[in-house]
Amino acid sequence: MNFTDLKLIQPIINAVSEIGYHQPTPIQQQVIPLVLEKRDVLGCAQTGTGKTAAFAIPVLQLLSQQKTLGKPRALILTPTRELALQIERNFSSYGKYLKLKHIAIFGGVPQGKQVAALKSGIDILIATPGRLMDLMAQGFADISAVELFILDEADHMLDMGFIRDVKKIITKIPVKRQTLLFSATMPAEIRAFANTILKQPAEVKV
Ligand code: AMP
Repeated sequence: MNFTDLKLIQPIINAVSEIGYHQPTPIQQQVIPLVLEKRDVLGCAQTGTGKTAAFAIPVLQLLSQQKTLGKPRALILTPTRELALQIERNFSSYGKYLKLKHIAIFGGVPQGKQVAALKSGIDILIATPGRLMDLMAQGFADISAVELFILDEADHMLDMGFIRDVKKIITKIPVKRQTLLFSATMPAEIRAFANTILKQPAEVKV
C-alpha cells in the first residue's frame, strides 16, 4: 500500500513524498482511513511506529476541507514540551502546502509568544495540559469550537498526574466531536477513561 491508496489530497501526498516517506506504516494504514471516515479511534501504539503522522495527516485533510474559524478546530493534548514540539514539526511538514495554522503551547517558557499566536487565529492547537489550563483561565485559549480532539500518550498523562487536568479540559470541548486516543499501554484505568470520552471507537493495535 502507498499513500495514494489512502484517498489523501494531493498537497499532502506531495509533502509526504518530499519528506521521503515511501509507504504508510501499519498504524497509518489503519488509522488514516478511520479518521477520514470520522470514526473515533482507540490506538495502542508506541512512539516510533509513525503514530503522529497517523493522526496529523487525516486531521490536516479534514480541516483543509472546511472553513477556517479563527479559533482551534483541532486540539492535540500531549504530556511533554518535547512531544508538543515534535508533533508541531510533524504538522508543519505534512501541512507544508496547506494554509492551516498551528501552534504548540507548553509550560516553562514565557507565555507572550503563545498568546500572540493564539490571538492571530489558529486552526490546530497542540498543548500540554498545564499551560493550556493557564491560558484558558486567562481567556487566551478558546477550545469551544474544537471538532477533533486527540489525546496522545494517555498512559503517560496518567503516570504524570495530568488526568485531572485532561478531564477538566475535555469538559470545555463540545460533546459533538471526533476523538482519538493513543496510548502505548492499555491498563484498565486508561481503557475505562477511554470509554468515557470515545464513541463506538475503532480499536487499532500495532
Ligand atoms: P512517531 O512514531 O510518530 O514518533 O514517528 C517516528 C518516526 O518515523 C518519525 O521520525 C517520523 O518522521 C517517521 N515516520 C513516520 N511515518 C513514516 C513513514 N510512513 N515512512 C517513513 N518514516 C516515517
